[in-house]
Amino acid sequence: MYDYLIVGAGLFGSVFARQATDAGKKVLVIDKHPNIAGNVYTEDIENIHVHKYGAHIFHTNNKEVWNYVTRFAEFNRFTNSPVANYKGELYSLPFNMYTFNKMWGVVTPEEAAAKIEEQRNEAGITEPHNLEEQAISLVGKDIYEKLIKGYTEKQWGRDCKDLPAFIIKRLPVRLTFDNNYFNALYQGIPVGGYTKMVANMLDGIEVRLDTDYFENKTKLDALADKIVYTGAIDAYFEYQLGALEYRSVRFETEVLDKPNFQGNAAVNYTDRETPWTRIIEHKWFEFGKDDAGNDIPKTVISREYSSEWKVGDEPYYPVNDEKNGALYQEYKKLADKEQKVIFGGRLGEYKYYDMDAVIASALELTEKELD
Ligand SMILES: Cc1cc2nc3c(=O)[nH]c(=O)nc-3n(C[C@H](O)[C@H](O)[C@H](O)COP(=O)(O)OP(=O)(O)OC[C@H]3O[C@@H](n4cnc5c(N)ncnc54)[C@H](O)[C@@H]3O)c2cc1C
Repeated sequence: MYDYLIVGAGLFGSVFARQATDAGKKVLVIDKHPNIAGNVYTEDIENIHVHKYGAHIFHTNNKEVWNYVTRFAEFNRFTNSPVANYKGELYSLPFNMYTFNKMWGVVTPEEAAAKIEEQRNEAGITEPHNLEEQAISLVGKDIYEKLIKGYTEKQWGRDCKDLPAFIIKRLPVRLTFDNNYFNALYQGIPVGGYTKMVANMLDGIEVRLDTDYFENKTKLDALADKIVYTGAIDAYFEYQLGALEYRSVRFETEVLDKPNFQGNAAVNYTDRETPWTRIIEHKWFEFGKDDAGNDIPKTVISREYSSEWKVGDEPYYPVNDEKNGALYQEYKKLADKEQKVIFGGRLGEYKYYDMDAVIASALELTEKELD
């Protein structure tokens, strides 16, 4: 009945579904969730598009991908400029001239560079043995202590002295007044939210929600010639070799009876004592509101906490260590033997993909598949 059954209405599945449909194929998309859009799902709360599975900022240097997504959504001019809050002191991120001016009172790039160099020399670390030494050897003690230490320790649940040096390879330092976090030619948030963008991709395509592939596998498999599977690869094989691990995040979302809580989309709490790593205020992803956010009298915030992951929790970041890498390779061997099934996307390939990369990957697959 169908050329393709697509398991997962996230970005990978939706891009594939659109391309296959436009190439004249008949597709059926299913998702176990009651909504489309997967990890980029945005939910309407108080007329604010709340990023349900974590803040998502679209950024890319890939013109083909940019041209593609802008077919389905208009993008606003949001620029990611997070603020760091260290015990009430506010600093600009990523580290740039605004940060250095606040930290040391320096005014020129030369003064800032000299201050960083002075701190690196004072530390005198030539061979860093752990993350703390590595960070100090790159940017000096002040930036490490106020902006890196506490945040990193909360993220990893461990002391920086007990974390390996290789986690931080480089710490970009900008000697310009530039708070734009991403070095990308194109950046923004889809006007109306990501869910609307994905709905536009799936326009005219048959989608069945609340449908778990594994609960109906035999019946569903019989419906299509081929399957594009974007769920977790280990789940597909019933965890027969063991579960792949993820790093997790817990969100506490709250509606506040005020128009403006923190004046910015993202504030990172870089001290160790504050239990959350950052607070997202969702309304600030939307551009064009008046300065105080008064056009919507309420605001929605999400506190983010790093947390341990266990089977059954929402999977967030794949763990790129040797053990999980080797386990994935074993699952990949099994996947390669499945003639009828194509594994794709962040869970199907156990890979951290930014949105632009996952779209590029789905476009690449469609070119090969539908040629
Ligand atoms: C916390 C976090 C923040 C991020 N922030 C950014 C950002 O700022 N910028 C950026 O570019 N990228 C960001 N990303 C990456 C982005 O989320 C991914 O690139 C993208 O969502 C991947 O799409 P996907 O289709 O591969 O996976 P998903 O969106 O996870 O889609 C997979 C779908 O398959 C469905 N599914 C799974 N199993 C089954 C089953 N058995 N039956 C039926 N359906 C099933 C799921 O319900 C899901 O809808 C972030 C990722 C995380 C984790």
